[in-house]
Amino acid sequence: MSTTFQRLFHSNNIALTLDRKHVDEIKRIFDEDTSTTKKGGEVLYNPNEIDMAFNHDWTGQFKGASELVLRPRTTEQVSKIVKYCNENNIVIIPQGGNTGLVGGGIPVNEQIEHRPQIILSTNLMNEIISFNDKSGKLICQSGCILEHLNHTLEEKGYQMPLDLAAKGSCQIGGNIATGAGGIRYVKFGSLHSNLLGLECVLPDGSIMDSIKEIRKDNTGYHLSHLFVGSEGTLGIITKVALQVPIKPKSVNVALISVESFEKVQELILMAKRELGEILSAVEFVDSDSMKLVMRLNHETLQPPVEGEHPFYLVIETQGSSKEHDEEKLNDFFAKALEEGVATDGSLAFDEKQSQYLWKFRELVSESLKKDGYVYKYDISIPLAKMYDIVLDMKERMKVFPQAKVYSFGHLGDENLHLNIVSPKFEKQIKETIEPYVYEWTSKHRGSISAEHGIGVLKKNYLHYSQTNVALNLMKSIKKTLDPNNIMNPHKVL
Ligand SMILES: Cc1cc2nc3c(=O)[nH]c(=O)nc-3n(C[C@H](O)[C@H](O)[C@H](O)COP(=O)(O)OP(=O)(O)OC[C@H]3O[C@@H](n4cnc5c(N)ncnc54)[C@H](O)[C@@H]3O)c2cc1C
Repeated sequence: MSTTFQRLFHSNNIALTLDRKHVDEIKRIFDEDTSTTKKGGEVLYNPNEIDMAFNHDWTGQFKGASELVLRPRTTEQVSKIVKYCNENNIVIIPQGGNTGLVGGGIPVNEQIEHRPQIILSTNLMNEIISFNDKSGKLICQSGCILEHLNHTLEEKGYQMPLDLAAKGSCQIGGNIATGAGGIRYVKFGSLHSNLLGLECVLPDGSIMDSIKEIRKDNTGYHLSHLFVGSEGTLGIITKVALQVPIKPKSVNVALISVESFEKVQELILMAKRELGEILSAVEFVDSDSMKLVMRLNHETLQPPVEGEHPFYLVIETQGSSKEHDEEKLNDFFAKALEEGVATDGSLAFDEKQSQYLWKFRELVSESLKKDGYVYKYDISIPLAKMYDIVLDMKERMKVFPQAKVYSFGHLGDENLHLNIVSPKFEKQIKETIEPYVYEWTSKHRGSISAEHGIGVLKKNYLHYSQTNVALNLMKSIKKTLDPNNIMNPHKVL
C-alpha cells in the first residue's frame, strides 16, 4: 500500500495530484456516512486496481490518468463529495459501466486538464428501490446493470425498454447519460419515452429529486430530460424512474439475406406493414461484417443461411400470442421470398434459437475490435441515402488496401454504424475519413452521432449537427449549472 500512496502523494506533477487533505476529507465523508447508514463508499487508489478497469475504455482508444476512484453507495455521499470537489476545484468524471464508445467516461490527459481528476464510479449504487408490478413503474439507483434489471423484471412479467450488446456491463445511469438507443428502439422509442423522472446531484452538490411515478407531468421545463444525453457534464444521475413494458409471451427472430440495398429498404417497409404492432427490432449486417463474425467465431457459429449475400437483416417480433406471431412472421417471410425481396433466411421460434440468430448481429462490434484499429462512426441519415456513404467510403479507402469498410446497425431507426478497420491506427486514414464523413452527414441534414453521444471523440464536430444558436444555448446551460467546470470538462462542448 505504501507504494500506492507514494504515487498518489509524491508525483512529480504537483498540480495534478490530490493533496493528502483532500483524500482524507473524502474518506471522512464516506466513514461519517457509514456510522449513520452502515453503507460506506469505497476509495480506490491502487494503480493495478484502477488502471485497466477505470482509466481505459472498451475501445482501447482512450486512456486516463486518474489516481483516485470513488465508489459511493448513496446519493448523500455523492452530494457531499461533489460539493467538496466544487469548493476545492477538483474535477469529477462520472463513470457507469465504462462501455461508452466516445471516451466520455475517461479522464482527459494532463496536458489538457491541469486540475486533479477523480473518477466517480456508480458501480456500488446498484439497488432496485421499488418496482410496482401492477403499473410497471421501476425506481432504481443509477448503477444497476441493464441486464440485471432485465432479469429481475422478467421474473415479474416485465422487461427493460432497451437492449444493447453491452447489456452485461452498461448501467442504467450510463444509458440515460448517453441517451442510448439499442435494438428495441423500433418498438419502445428513445429513453425519453420511457423516462418518468431522475434524481441528479448537480455540480454544486445539491440534489434535484424529480423522481415521479406518474406518466404525465407538464409542470414547467422537463428538467430530467435535460440529463438524457448530457454525458456526465451537467451532474451525476443517482436514481432513475422508468415506465417499463410487459414481457412478451412470444419472441421470434428471422435472419434474412437480401441482394441489394434497394431490396433492404423494401424489406424494412414490408416488415413494418406486415408485422405491424409486433415488430420489435430491425437490424442490419453487411456481407463483410457477417464474414468477419463467422471467421472469428467459427467454432461456435454455423452459417445462418447458405452461401454469401451482400446484406442481412435481423428482424424480431414480440407479441402476446405465439401462434399468431409465428404465423405472421412465416407469412411475411414467405411473401418476401415470393416477391423476390429476400433470397433466403433462417427463422427462430424459441428463445434458444432466437438468441443464436441474434449473435450474428451482436458479435459484430466485438469482432471488429479484435480485427484491428476501428474508426467508428454512428450516423443517422434518411434510409434512401444511407448506403451511398458506405459506397463513397469504400471508394475513398481504395488508396489504403490495408483498411476495410464495414456497415451494420439499427436500420429500422435509420441509424448506421460505419466502421473502418486497419491493422493499426494511421493518421492518414483518419484524415481521409474525417471530416469528410461528418460533412457528408451534415449535407444530408443527418446526425453525426445517432446514439453513442459526443464525448471527446466527436467534440470538434458537434457543429456539423447543431446550429450556433443551439451550441451557445448548450454552453450557457453548462455554465449556469457548472460555473467552475468541474463536471466532466472537455467533453461534449
Ligand atoms: C459491444 C457494445 C455495443 C454497444 N451497443 C450500443 C447500442 O446498440 N446502442 C447504444 O446507444 N450504445 C451502444 N454501446 C455504447 C454504450 O454501451 C452505451 O453508450 C451505454 O449507454 C453506456 O453506459 P455505461 O454505463 O457503460 O456508461 P459509461 O461508459 O460509464 O459512461 C458513458 C457516459 O455517461 C456518463 N455517465 C455514466 N454514468 C453516469 C451517471 N450516473 N450520471 C451522469 N453521467 C454518467 C459518463 O461520464 C460518460 O460520459 C455499445 C457499446 C459496446 C461496447
